[in-house]
Amino acid sequence: MLNPCPTHINLKVYRPRKPQDSAYYRCVEDCFETFEQVYQERFEQKYGFFRPYVRQVIYRYLDCGILKNGFARVRCEDCGHEYLLAHSCKRRHFCPSCHQKRVVEFGEWLCQEVVKAVPHRHVVLSIPKILRRYFLYDRKLLSDLSRCGWEALKAFYTAVTRDQKAVPGAVVAIQTFGDFPQGFHPHLHILVSDGCFHGNGMFSVSPTADTKALEQIFRHKLLKMLVAKGKITQDMIMLLDKWRHTGFNVFFGPRILPRQEKSMETLARYIIRAAFSQERMNYHRETGQVQYRSKDGKEIKVFDALEWLAAMCSHVPNTGKQMARYYGFYSNVARGKRKKTDADNKIPCFLEPELTGKTSRRNWARLIQKIYEVDPLVCPKCFGAMRIIAFIEEPDVMKKILKHLGLWDVKRKPRPVANAPPIDFFPAYDQQPGPSADDYIKDPDYPAEAYF
Ligand SMILES: [Zn+2]
Ligand SMILES: [Zn+2]
Repeated sequence: MLNPCPTHINLKVYRPRKPQDSAYYRCVEDCFETFEQVYQERFEQKYGFFRPYVRQVIYRYLDCGILKNGFARVRCEDCGHEYLLAHSCKRRHFCPSCHQKRVVEFGEWLCQEVVKAVPHRHVVLSIPKILRRYFLYDRKLLSDLSRCGWEALKAFYTAVTRDQKAVPGAVVAIQTFGDFPQGFHPHLHILVSDGCFHGNGMFSVSPTADTKALEQIFRHKLLKMLVAKGKITQDMIMLLDKWRHTGFNVFFGPRILPRQEKSMETLARYIIRAAFSQERMNYHRETGQVQYRSKDGKEIKVFDALEWLAAMCSHVPNTGKQMARYYGFYSNVARGKRKKTDADNKIPCFLEPELTGKTSRRNWARLIQKIYEVDPLVCPKCFGAMRIIAFIEEPDVMKKILKHLGLWDVKRKPRPVANAPPIDFFPAYDQQPGPSADDYIKDPDYPAEAYF
């Protein structure tokens, strides 16, 4: 039955997208085999050994959102309209759609369950170019980089408090890319409380301090760590000492106050953003080239597709590595202790928790609505309520349904499949003009990247 409500007429409706049609998908699909074959010869020196985990990530991505790998039937209860919802790969970083969903979940979780309603700052710490390769060849050092950043901030913030037990709280995310994904550029994006938490549930806001001191502490901690790990010698430190610009950089963002919830959530998403944006990419199959636009649209660079893929793969973190680490008042241990003693609510979180439990937070329909402003459970024909009526995973049944609907594409060449079937749903979105993924992970209001 048609829903007569006229306000529904201008609503955007959800249509599952076809991932195979995206420039990124076509590029990966065309190139991944050659890429693996030539990797050692062409890219090993620049990007380090080929990691088997990356292969798995690529295969999973190529299966993501592909109906042939299983789907759910979503049906309108009023008019009977149906669409198919394909499974998703759930792989972060390499798969733009799955990463996007994680970013939204992360932003909510951070604001509702980790960061407290006290002033915060966005701090970016970067290192000289000459030191970057150590982190590429030995990725375990990335956790040490993160710790050095935290220790520097802790020393910086506690210097002004007289309370020995007072600590700041910080969320540290490692990014390895700049505006263009080419090159390996490890640096830290940190969300830190702008002051220290005392044991008694009090918080003291930090007076404005000279950030030059922060740069010096960070530099000292990092070089000390690299020497201790046997990566660099005193000679390197002496060389760095001679430079007029140290190559170490500190970006110290403006204060974000407790009532600026939107800025905080945007920032939380920003620190774990994807290495690239699909919307800014073009792929030319004939020339084997990728064209990529800078964020401000002023610069367009052209890359060899294989080179592009090598860069993209270099930003995939090792398996199981967290997107962000938590320190001080926000560390897992500190949060766990406060929860146990019921002391975590003395200072409320930045946002009121809306949802409890992982399941509701990961509800695919809710996330799609939040990202793309379309409700996948609203019928595009009659605006009635839709629901999942069945999961189809039996190969014969899948084939039959897809053939019947003319969606069984036999022209596609077969390729190796990933070890396990993908799970969860594909957060599909409409390919037609609408909000772009970029719009929903907007940069903070200030030029975070102007410092690179
Ligand atoms: Zn309907
Ligand atoms: Zn995916």
